[in-house]
Amino acid sequence: MVKFKAVSKDYNGHIAVKNLNLEVEEGELVVLIGPSGCGKTTTLKMVNRLVEPTEGDILVNGKNVRDVDPVALRRQIGYVIQQIGLFPHMTVEENITVVPRLLEWPATKSRARAHELLEMAGMDPDVYANRYPNELSGGQQQRIGVLRALAADPPLILMDEPFGALDPISREALQDELKNLQKRLRKTIIFVTHDIDEALKLADRVVVMKEGQVIQVATPEDLLRKP
Ligand code: ADP
Ligand code: ADP
Repeated sequence: MVKFKAVSKDYNGHIAVKNLNLEVEEGELVVLIGPSGCGKTTTLKMVNRLVEPTEGDILVNGKNVRDVDPVALRRQIGYVIQQIGLFPHMTVEENITVVPRLLEWPATKSRARAHELLEMAGMDPDVYANRYPNELSGGQQQRIGVLRALAADPPLILMDEPFGALDPISREALQDELKNLQKRLRKTIIFVTHDIDEALKLADRVVVMKEGQVIQVATPEDLLRKP
């Protein structure tokens, strides 16, 4: 689904990512983990062209992202960051359906999709669809951010510390939900965190990075087995 081939990123002489090779399979949840500054966010942002690699190629579904218009690319790849940035003047339903509406889905289809996703996330659409972001808790807002990324049914979703700002209880609830949604909807997810517990809980495979390089790729079971 996603293939990094000898990818490097140099920010004006500062090497952030160095010769990264990695393949993410369809339906897999891969967690990139490592200390702050090791290149996780840069790696993620090169997939949807928020950052351009200095060297190497990234293929998504066999297509070099270099050959895909960045705006079109970002409509095909879900993206969730810590500061989720819901639009304050839009209702929950409108926030969830931003991309479907850009893609000119019929209104009834967008609406049905928003309601389906709210139900999956345990938020009654009759209660929440017409609320505004400031009427939601932080955990609920972040949940809407995840639903927004899922709305147009992209096969691939990039997540950058999506639950990093949440209290431990909301965080755990969202981790459980994400795992369920991912299995149920068969999404490929690349998830960035510096929290090892989160990585072990969510990942099919954990990619450990250090100073711009991959130093280990292992399943959570393998990581737990080793001393
Ligand atoms: P992480 O997500 O693991 O914290 P980043 O990918 O954000 O790491 O950053 C990797 C390195 O690249 C860091 O040293 C960071 O300071 C540097 N860096 C990130 N973005 C930029 C930028 N826009 N310009 C210059 N250096 C950057
Ligand atoms: P940082 O990691 O440095 O805190 P962010 O990840 O918050 O930066 O955002 C980096 C840039 O990406 C911002 O300019 C933001 O507006 C943009 N951005 C965020 N989400 C999307 C998206 N889905 N499509 C296009 N651009 C986006």
